[in-house]
Amino acid sequence: MHRPLRLIIDRSALISNWRWLAARAGVASGAAIKADGYGLGAREALRALYDAGCRDFFVSTWWEARELGAIPSDASLMVLHGVGPNDVDAALALSARPVLNSPEQVARWKEIAPQRPCDVMVDTGMNRLGVRVDELEVLKGLAIDTLMSHLACADEDHPLNALQLKRFREVAVQVAAQRYSLANSAGICLGVDYAFDLVRPGLALYGGIPRDEAAGHIQQVAQVEAQIVQRRTVRAGETCGYGATFVAETDTEAAILNIGYADGYLRGFSARGRAFAEDAELPVLGRVSMDLIAVDCSADPALREGDWVRLDYDLPWASAASGLSQYELLTGLGGRFERIWR
Ligand SMILES: *Cc1c(COP(=O)(O)O)cnc(C)c1O
Repeated sequence: MHRPLRLIIDRSALISNWRWLAARAGVASGAAIKADGYGLGAREALRALYDAGCRDFFVSTWWEARELGAIPSDASLMVLHGVGPNDVDAALALSARPVLNSPEQVARWKEIAPQRPCDVMVDTGMNRLGVRVDELEVLKGLAIDTLMSHLACADEDHPLNALQLKRFREVAVQVAAQRYSLANSAGICLGVDYAFDLVRPGLALYGGIPRDEAAGHIQQVAQVEAQIVQRRTVRAGETCGYGATFVAETDTEAAILNIGYADGYLRGFSARGRAFAEDAELPVLGRVSMDLIAVDCSADPALREGDWVRLDYDLPWASAASGLSQYELLTGLGGRFERIWR
């Protein structure tokens, strides 16, 4: 059935971003495909990146791992949240590896699958997930494939970056593993010191710019397009939308678009977002509704019902305009979009 809003997803831009990140790191690059591939489609992202040579994929939960279906036998799938008390059956049934995060998870894994390879997250200062550096002795006896840690502030110039790097190097000396991995997208930008054996980008694969170093190299992957439901003239002195926050100073040509905050186009774009029809710029008028927005189409008055327009979803721009992070802009994209991979 026809859908009036769509994401056009550029496979070659995704692959080009992955290649740039791997080259910048100088080591193998995996791909975080959690949260349905940051909102764009995990299965398609996995397939495209696998075909380009990527062999290491990360999801958060066992449910996400199962939703991917069968994955190629020479690829690794890692479950970042590890094995919790309710995950034992899934962990035994699926071929994905858990990333063990705590002494509890390590004990659970030793009980249910002592011989099977696993991965381990060590906390080097973020205090989110991971075994503490003073708990490393619990790891004895595990068959560790990838030992990892995660940077808390890589998107900023923050003293914790160098401190986490130093601690991770110390951990790597103490704990034997096949591979060591520290950097996410922003961590790759920090330099090859942070790369170790494997990097784990997410955001930048999908077009996010985590730090200035990536600008000009990372391509936009997703285009957001919506169809016009109705054209109207808002007469001088009239208002448009909830709260009557837009007041027309002169007669204003408006197009009402099939997209709203239920689709992830959140209210931060009210009076700040913009769309394009070819090169004509169409500013958002007034508040974003649940399923609709109004844009000023004076720059292209020939637009009519059924025409498609493109929302400006350049991630750094849209982040600045809306106050949402680039991560939220991607992962918030809702279920009503038709996702078209090209
Ligand atoms: C999500 C995640 C990544 C990817 O992070 P980006 O900032 O999106 O590149 C890497 N490692 C871990 C542990 C993660 O949770």
